[in-house]
Amino acid sequence: MKLLHIVLIPTMAQGHMIPMLDMAKLFTSRGLRATIITTPSFSAPITQARLSGFNIGLVVTPFPPQGSSLPQNIVSFDQMTDPDLASKFLGAMELLQEPVEEILQQLRPDCIISDMFLPWTADSAAKFSIPRLAFYGTGFFARCLSEKFEIHKPLDNVTMTSDPEAILVPGLPHELKFVIPQLCPFFLEETANDFTKMFEKMNESWKKTYGEVVNSFDELESGYANHYKNVIGRKAWEIGPLLLCSEKNHHRGNESAIDEHECLAWLDSKKPNSVVYVCFGSLATFSRAQLTETAAALEASGQDFIWVVRKNERDEEDWVPLGFEERVRNKGLIIRGWAPQVMILYHVSVGAFVTHCGWNSTLEGVCAGVPMVTWPLFAEQFFNEKLVTEVLGTGVSVGNKRWMLRDSEGVEREAVARAVEEVMVGGGAEEMRRRAQRYKEMAKKAVEEDGSSYNNLNDLIEELSNYVAPTKQDIN
Ligand code: UDP
Repeated sequence: MKLLHIVLIPTMAQGHMIPMLDMAKLFTSRGLRATIITTPSFSAPITQARLSGFNIGLVVTPFPPQGSSLPQNIVSFDQMTDPDLASKFLGAMELLQEPVEEILQQLRPDCIISDMFLPWTADSAAKFSIPRLAFYGTGFFARCLSEKFEIHKPLDNVTMTSDPEAILVPGLPHELKFVIPQLCPFFLEETANDFTKMFEKMNESWKKTYGEVVNSFDELESGYANHYKNVIGRKAWEIGPLLLCSEKNHHRGNESAIDEHECLAWLDSKKPNSVVYVCFGSLATFSRAQLTETAAALEASGQDFIWVVRKNERDEEDWVPLGFEERVRNKGLIIRGWAPQVMILYHVSVGAFVTHCGWNSTLEGVCAGVPMVTWPLFAEQFFNEKLVTEVLGTGVSVGNKRWMLRDSEGVEREAVARAVEEVMVGGGAEEMRRRAQRYKEMAKKAVEEDGSSYNNLNDLIEELSNYVAPTKQDIN
């Protein structure tokens, strides 16, 4: 069989970059050639992976690209703090097409795996007569649900209930209920904007997209994998959890804002399953009022905790409520900025994960066998929450009802403290922990030789090796 060369093109967000790098590590460890095309501010972890022995190719292209109106210092998704910047950022990502195609011309790979936010890569792949696989960075459960909500007409395929806010999503393996404010607000808008246009381009790109690689494993959501492939009718390969592709995977994304030895020493000093780890990913921010509520909830829960607090870009002053750190000195560790999340989650002292249900965080919680307190904020996180709380039975919701990326608020301290208590010491806590441990075992097995994800990757490699580009006649 010939050595396949796969080019991976992530977007500029840690939640999209981290699993793509894991994927490149996985491919090289399975004898494939992998090259990542990325921008300067995201190249450091790849360089680090190369230094630690992964034979991954790296090509860096400037961002913002030539011709973009984006300010030079805006280089990643978490800096899109207002609609004007967001719209310029989307425009800048489109301008990457030309430089990326020049790189492809040099590399001449056999396949492109590219992020959902780069739909033009489907055209690029067609130009080079190679397949494009899409990467949405989420699981099948959320992919199936997302397909139910159409842009501008998101309520067309759902069932209204007697509660004017609540909807039921029909036709999936479970009956799932959401409230309308949990849905992506871009979809609810009747007129087009840059985001709805982007989603339309993503949908359109499926005409030239060969399939999808999914960071998941069969045992976690097999009913939804089947639905996605057989009812929605997309080719897809679940090859994860990608996190488990490498033993050297504790260090991910940015530099930690805490000395890792100090963090481990703190965790070592605690009893097994006694610490609540609280982190909301790389993009979300809370309002000051919500930070105060969260602090009060952690204090009221009586549990030991690690709280990762992200700064709001525009805030000058400290964003941890005044006096809080002193009051909780023996019980709480506060990390301002980037935490070594996977290292923390895998520590025996961690007994619960308060998470925004970003898919990477959700899978990391699953892989570490830690029950979750679910606090979704935006994107498909409200869908992921349902998977954890209603399908897997490994978490309890704080009950957030509103999609908000920035300055999120509205969840009261009592709701958080109650959910934390239920997961840590409630009547069902032991059973939840046992279930979480079972999924941890299944995840490990899935990526081992002859495991479901291992075999899915074999199938994908075979299919790519036999790929024949469609002729013009096939396309018409
Ligand atoms: N992450 C981390 N430390 C932090 C915050 C996030 O290591 O302080 C990692 C986390 O482990 C996960 C990723 O960043 O791999 C976040 O991705 P996710 O899909 O959970 O959320 P997003 O950031 O996209 O909202």
